[in-house]
Amino acid sequence: MNPSKIVVSGMRPTGKLHLGHYFGVLKNWLELQNQYRCFFFIADWHALTTEYQDPKILRQACRDILLDWLAAGLDPKRCTIFLQSRVPEHAELHLLLSMLTPISWLERVPSYKELKNELKDRDLSTYGFLGYPLLQTADVAIYNAHLVPVGQDQVAHLELSREVLRRFNHLYGETFVEPQPLLTPSPKVPGLDGRKMSKSYGNAIYLSDDEAAVRKKMGDAVTDPARIRKSDPGNPDICNVFDYHRLFSPPELVSRVNLQCRAAEIGCVEDKKLATENLLAFLRPIQERRRALEADPKRLEEILEAGAAEARKIAQGHLKRVYERMGLC
Ligand code: SF4
Repeated sequence: MNPSKIVVSGMRPTGKLHLGHYFGVLKNWLELQNQYRCFFFIADWHALTTEYQDPKILRQACRDILLDWLAAGLDPKRCTIFLQSRVPEHAELHLLLSMLTPISWLERVPSYKELKNELKDRDLSTYGFLGYPLLQTADVAIYNAHLVPVGQDQVAHLELSREVLRRFNHLYGETFVEPQPLLTPSPKVPGLDGRKMSKSYGNAIYLSDDEAAVRKKMGDAVTDPARIRKSDPGNPDICNVFDYHRLFSPPELVSRVNLQCRAAEIGCVEDKKLATENLLAFLRPIQERRRALEADPKRLEEILEAGAAEARKIAQGHLKRVYERMGLC
């Protein structure tokens, strides 16, 4: 454990979490909470940048994400868990940083154009959407974070944060740590159709899917498309079900299926059942914890309250220093 190193990360509340979220983000967080001083937040303000026309959906989405985090094993005794909008210091620092951030820096963030093109059904010509990478900068800088867990594709985002904080340090004197990317593993978790697992593709298995739903989804999963009959040899390297075996099944079974599939000694229906049983065994304890938490809304509120109080304590200290550096108090 290295409590002197601070790690900050957030997740947009987009609803229930699926296996892609678990292996891409949550699993890493579960390890990080044992290694560093971690702040994990539900980024409800970030969600507003694209969902501002229908913010009512966010309340349930925030509750779902909190349930999934806790059920998966995030432990409020080992990390600080909170709702972004309950720590207004994030917004205050965002405002201060916006004074010294050139608009062109925000416009060139790769995801700005990409997301705008992807979400054509929404009007994203808003100040909030343009400024969201700066809000991300404030999210991290308000705790003077050393490390930000990111995938390779998000390194550019962090570079903007580093540039903005460097500019602040240059103008007002050393105040902020320049956060470093903490590249975290993200194993392949294909959706049921072979594309990236995503809520919008309708190809996801959720951590909270019940047994019947998981069985149905796995039954419909696309396998090696060239394998028409059971007597055709298959190729596990291009089969989604085999990717699930790799994630959930014991190594002996993975090796056996690998050989039997290639030799046409096992059919896809039978193999899907094996993979499904191992997937269900992984989900069961998570879902048991989720049910217990669902039955205790008071506990959820206590966790969020305590998390926000703890986060605010640190954030207020840093913000005071920022004001002092700027000569504002
Ligand atoms: S036997 Fe299993 S690994 Fe082989 S193609 Fe069918 S589902 Fe995929």
